[in-house]
Amino acid sequence: MSKMKGAIVVNTDRCKGCQLCVVACPKDVIALAQKKVNIHGYPYVEPARAELCIGCTACAMVCRMVV
Ligand code: SF4
Ligand code: SF4
Repeated sequence: MSKMKGAIVVNTDRCKGCQLCVVACPKDVIALAQKKVNIHGYPYVEPARAELCIGCTACAMVCRMVV
């Protein structure tokens, strides 16, 4: 049985790489993608430790690019 309690999706094409969501996450789920940029040339974040997500929505509250 899966222990995953939540999951996020990052709209990478709209992410600005500001990392507000990284700071807001209490479980250290989100990280800046290494050496990658989106179609606008911005670095973007990804759910690097997705299995730790508890679905608290703190990341979504600071940015609408994460749901
Ligand atoms: S998803 Fe939003 S809060 Fe997170 S780095 Fe991108 S723009 Fe910033
Ligand atoms: S929902 Fe909560 S635990 Fe999951 S990535 Fe967002 S801030 Fe972190």
